[in-house]
Amino acid sequence: MPRRVGSPAIRSTKTTAAGAPKPKSIPKPRGFERGGRKPRVALDARPAKPATNPQRNVFDVVPRAPQTVFDALTRLDAIPGVDVKTLGDIDGIPVQVVRLNGAPPPPGTEPKRVLITGGVHGSEPAGTMSAVELLELVAKSPDLFPGFEFTVVPLVNPEGFRDGTRHNENDDTDLNREAAHDDHVPKEMQLLMPVLDEGPWTLALDLHASGSTTAAGKNGFFAIRTAGNDELLHGVMSEFKASYDVLDETTARYTMVEPGVMESKNMGTVKGYLFERGTEASFTLEAPARASMKVQVEGLVDLVRGFLSRV
Ligand SMILES: [Zn+2]
Repeated sequence: MPRRVGSPAIRSTKTTAAGAPKPKSIPKPRGFERGGRKPRVALDARPAKPATNPQRNVFDVVPRAPQTVFDALTRLDAIPGVDVKTLGDIDGIPVQVVRLNGAPPPPGTEPKRVLITGGVHGSEPAGTMSAVELLELVAKSPDLFPGFEFTVVPLVNPEGFRDGTRHNENDDTDLNREAAHDDHVPKEMQLLMPVLDEGPWTLALDLHASGSTTAAGKNGFFAIRTAGNDELLHGVMSEFKASYDVLDETTARYTMVEPGVMESKNMGTVKGYLFERGTEASFTLEAPARASMKVQVEGLVDLVRGFLSRV
């Protein structure tokens, strides 16, 4: 039995199911509304405190304790149909995978298998929080997700999450360059690889946040592809950018395909590893780190749902 962290599991009944998503509230619209759509969400431009550690992002809300993620998954595990397993641990902190399904697929259709990963970069907590939020939404409202089978690893790099660092603690390595079968890859990736290898997936999304809280640029959400996938990405981002700002320039790291759609061929990324092994719809999704945590999480959840509606 892997060591559990901190307090015992908090049990909840099905009706009060843990972590039912809070009612959706969108920041007051600035500017205009488009017919029938929810108000456009503006980035929170509140100035952030300067970071002392260049790897560290400073948020107005800092959900940095792996314990909070562990507690959320423990609450989910009490709900019938939710399966939480521990893949292993990083210095005693469990790395967990959650499996749960939406409502059964419509007659005559195959289930759609979706992989979601978060927290590969510890300093990007919005990815982890969005993965947990999505899990809670599926557990509470499976009818919103007919035919989907979810496999979710919300926190790949728990010590980076705790420390606010992009890299992992033990190797000081960017785990999103280490997706490979090799005894020398960091333990976090060794734990994750068997889950990645349950593919090919109908859809695989690796959730991140990009840019700093202080620097200009990267002022919007975006998806990163390895290659191809134009039609799906174009459809999803066209709809998404009616409600959210998207990145609309080529950056040092990414080549813009169209606003909100970037391409990178970095080696060893989760999205690249899956794409090369037959998951065509494999993308990194990035929230703008300078937005409030609330906007980052709402946006990432909406963006994931945009992919689910079209895949
Ligand atoms: Zn990242």
